[in-house]
Amino acid sequence: MTAVSLGMPAAPAPQLAPRRKSRQIMVGSVPVGGGAPVSVQSMTTTLTADINATLQQIAELTAAGCQIVRVAVPSQDDVLALPAIAKKSQIPVIADIHFQPKYVFAAIDAGCAAVRVNPGNIRQFDDKVKEIAKAASDAGVPIRIGVNAGSLDKRLLAKYGKATAEALVESALWECSLFEEHGFRDIKISVKHNDPVVMIRAYRQLAERCDYPLHLGVTEAGPAFQGTIKSAVAFGALLAEGIGDTIRVSLSAPPVEEIKVGNAILESLGLRERGLEIVSCPSCGRAQVDVYTLAEQVTAALEGLPVPLRVAVMGCVVNGPGEAREADLGVASGNGKGQIFVKGEVIKTVPESQIVETLVEEALRLADQMGAELPEELRELITGPTVTVH
Ligand code: SF4
Repeated sequence: MTAVSLGMPAAPAPQLAPRRKSRQIMVGSVPVGGGAPVSVQSMTTTLTADINATLQQIAELTAAGCQIVRVAVPSQDDVLALPAIAKKSQIPVIADIHFQPKYVFAAIDAGCAAVRVNPGNIRQFDDKVKEIAKAASDAGVPIRIGVNAGSLDKRLLAKYGKATAEALVESALWECSLFEEHGFRDIKISVKHNDPVVMIRAYRQLAERCDYPLHLGVTEAGPAFQGTIKSAVAFGALLAEGIGDTIRVSLSAPPVEEIKVGNAILESLGLRERGLEIVSCPSCGRAQVDVYTLAEQVTAALEGLPVPLRVAVMGCVVNGPGEAREADLGVASGNGKGQIFVKGEVIKTVPESQIVETLVEEALRLADQMGAELPEELRELITGPTVTVH
């Protein structure tokens, strides 16, 4: 039996830049800005008025790691659903409101954790800012000023010709100034554009010109593949500079996918503790096993394991042993066999047909030793001792 030193879970990766200093707001129980961890949000796609469907989707998002959820409020029926949704959701609910100032007051009364307003769609709000600021302030509810390239204030569109970074920033700061006139600064800002280059420039300018927390988003980013790339590139550039306090990945895909991508972006940048991480080689002419299938099978078998674990799946003995040794757990394959590494030590060599089951068993054993709560049927898989069979 091989003794395995587990130690503590690995410390978070060092960050690329200090976080930008911003004021902190509370979106319900979730702090945003002021050094709080970057939070991940999404938006429901159900009819908000359908309370059960919306709560069901919020529950799925919560299970996937969503920390704040936004719901659209385009009609009176949606307004009527807000109290039940705000009360029963396990995560803070933001009401997304355009055009109708009265819905802002209703959302605050309903117990929503924040309200999003869009300066481009709320010109008729301008004379209501004083009342909105008072109601939000009295209730301790922050406001997100959410500028969107597709609905830029017409005055700014005329001034700049199109939704430039400067136009987006001017729109946001102008709206902030209306609230500031009434002493209200419980604000976060987003300036979304579908072009990551414009979006990055806009957020950089905003970061220079105010200390409000920033909500990052690439709007209308597209279907899953394109949207993931755009969001990862844009958020990555900004977060690597310390800019960004909360993120929403917008995909033309189920919102749970947005949360998976958002969490993965934060994990990649060391802004969140990494969960399960599969390090698999791209395979090449030296590969002596089917690396793609092996990596897929291991990923599928370990999905959802609630511990930070790095598992290396390597195709041959050229780079394989090095990577496998660096990981918590790994396999270097070759000659119809797999050398299984745990915490840098070879603990056994198994036939190729047993690589997946052995990796899974050892991963579960590590997770158990790290204190993960495993279902009984999984725990049964790891009751036997680790046997060395070099
Ligand atoms: S580990 Fe081996 S098979 Fe995989 S890419 Fe590197 S050299 Fe090729």
